[in-house]
Amino acid sequence: MCIFCKIIAKEIPSNMVAENESFYAFHDINPKAPVHVLIIPKAHYDSFNDVPGEVMGKMSTFMQEVAKAVGIDESGYRIISNIGEDGAQEVKHLHFHLLGGAHLRWGHFADADSKDFF
Ligand code: AMP
Repeated sequence: MCIFCKIIAKEIPSNMVAENESFYAFHDINPKAPVHVLIIPKAHYDSFNDVPGEVMGKMSTFMQEVAKAVGIDESGYRIISNIGEDGAQEVKHLHFHLLGGAHLRWGHFADADSKDFF
């Protein structure tokens, strides 16, 4: 069982933000912003590559509710999903990072120099 499946099964403790029958939201253990919540489906998908559109539609509604619940829907926020090796995905269970609570910088994401892109 993967670490996030264990969190859903309450085998590993987590700091819950919200839950319904299909999705779970909890605070990231290593926050990168004043608000850093992870949002996951209870069903296991390795990454965004594998999630069916119907599930993603319901997950979007849940993410909107979570942004409102933590009070950043009006101030603004960022949603990120890391996918695979180049995406620097560490946990192989689909998750979205919900980041906010401060003005987020937008910048240079790649280790490679931008002149190498083209
Ligand atoms: P990613 O690099 O997109 O796979 O992100 C995985 C995230 O999971 C990281 O931001 C970690 O800090 C977070 N994380 C790992 N284990 C736990 C845990 N037990 N509770 C809360 N967050 C976790």
